Amino acid sequence: MEKSNDSVFMSKDDDIPSAPTPEEISRKLSEFMKASFGDSVSFSTMTDGAPFQEDDFIEADEEFPEESEERFSSIFDLDYFPRDIKAHLDRYVIRQEEAKKVLSIAVCDHYNHAKSFKRLEEDHPEKARQTEFQKQNVIIVGPTGVGKTYLVKHIAELIGVPFVKADATKFSETGYVGADVDDLVRELVRKADGDVELAEYGIVYIDEVDKVATRGEMIGRDVSGRGVQTTLLKLMEETEVSLRNPMDIQSQMQAMFDQGGAGKTSKSSISTRHILFIVSGAFSGLEKIMHERLRQGTIGFGASNEATSMDATSFGEVETQDFIEFGFEAEFIGRLPVRVVCEHLEKEDLLEIMQSSEGSLIRQYEREFQAYGINATFKQDALEMIAERAAKEKTGARGLMTVCERILRDFKFELPGTSLTEIDITRDLIDNPAEALLKFKELDDGFSGSKIVSELNSFRRQFSEQHGVELVFEQDAMKALEELSQQRNMSVMKLCSDLFRDFQYGVKLIQNNTGEKVFKLAREAVENPDAYLSALVVDSYPDYQHNDSTAKAKDVGSAPEEGDSGLDSDSDSDSEE
Ligand code: ADP
Repeated sequence: MEKSNDSVFMSKDDDIPSAPTPEEISRKLSEFMKASFGDSVSFSTMTDGAPFQEDDFIEADEEFPEESEERFSSIFDLDYFPRDIKAHLDRYVIRQEEAKKVLSIAVCDHYNHAKSFKRLEEDHPEKARQTEFQKQNVIIVGPTGVGKTYLVKHIAELIGVPFVKADATKFSETGYVGADVDDLVRELVRKADGDVELAEYGIVYIDEVDKVATRGEMIGRDVSGRGVQTTLLKLMEETEVSLRNPMDIQSQMQAMFDQGGAGKTSKSSISTRHILFIVSGAFSGLEKIMHERLRQGTIGFGASNEATSMDATSFGEVETQDFIEFGFEAEFIGRLPVRVVCEHLEKEDLLEIMQSSEGSLIRQYEREFQAYGINATFKQDALEMIAERAAKEKTGARGLMTVCERILRDFKFELPGTSLTEIDITRDLIDNPAEALLKFKELDDGFSGSKIVSELNSFRRQFSEQHGVELVFEQDAMKALEELSQQRNMSVMKLCSDLFRDFQYGVKLIQNNTGEKVFKLAREAVENPDAYLSALVVDSYPDYQHNDSTAKAKDVGSAPEEGDSGLDSDSDSDSEE
């Protein structure tokens, strides 16, 4: 229902039956501004003028307990040593040893300090206010795609604090510098489901901070760059940020509405005293500045913007003065006492990421194919080739995704719904994906039953949901099912339900013996399910492994061969972005 402009401004009166929402008010004001002043004046709300998109923020609070009370107290129950945090990071992040170590120490110190401050505040509030405290804000130097965000995200997840990421470049775009930077802190509150106290212990991660440096060659950016540094500096020190964006009329209206209601929080601002700030950037040219200084014995001039990659040894020589020369205000860089480098990733590192990081992209692909009933196995030679190609992309581990996506896109499109249940991803496939795809499709030719495949997939999904076991039907087994369903004039779904009615018991036994979660079913499984399963069960006991009568079952149900991707498709890994 369309409301008159008047009703917008009478909205505080509760008697008016249809008081407009802040969104409506915002829209009306926008229309009014446009009608009165034309396009020369624009009206912005926090959502359309924000310096970052929703995608810029990484959700780090999925694993929180439901109740925010519990979430909050959990930070203060933490009892980690730096080495515990490092061990957690080791599961996901390959290389970057120094960064993992330094960040673990900084984070432990930071939250230990927050803990003792909280205690002091409860016992002696006056003393707490007077306590001097130098925050352990961190600067990470490193090229793109080497795990900087990944590190911070996993730390935030482990500690259980909200985490917000944004690019520093976005801040200089809108002009309202101060307000934009404050939005970062407000976003923390949103991530903490409105729990201001929890947000006050969150982590703000700002990437591409090197872009707000104010070097000679960055003319045009200087003013806003310095402006962003100054506002960031204010946040990193200690300040109160209003929970409502002053530029955002919609949120101001919301605040007005909230005042009338029985809102659970009466806080109108958030303190940044305990928010941990981590900034990062590639800092191309910093190494050159440092070398110049070392060479001349003075501060170098004319440092170029040439891309150089810093390693831990050379970074050890970087001094505050080099950052200043790079274009940072001394006060700004002084607020970032913890400095660490994330190193460039070589081909071998990319290979290791695929093989052993718990968040490996390869597992993601395996899961994605598995969802269509296809067992995808990445062979070692293929992984090596992917790593080699990804290294050439020069985008760190992001290159892995680029390479895999390019090669496997068509396979993901063409193969689901065919009778194929096994694909080996080999060096040949990577070399010539089109040919490999053609071969797979030839294998599928002559098999009429796309309907069968989809019915079978429904059965598989149901079985997997009910019993936690994946059944994989070989092509021959599918053919047998097709014939049988025609003979008996029965749907494949019904047929499978009948044939494999008691399968879960045997399968559970096998699982207990071998730990396997994926079972391949051959033609014999359809022709004689009970005998087939019995043979598999018998075979799963180590003592019976060489019994001839179970040779077939052993062949079918055997573990994946050595030297494959080295990844256990069964293990539950977390899903990565
Ligand atoms: P950046 O250094 O630019 O912040 P990210 O941390 O966002 O890069 O890395 C992108 C993705 O690449 C991560 O989500 C992760 O899956 C993978 N990745 C990057 N570096 C590593 C690493 N050292 N170990 C394991 N995975 C990594």
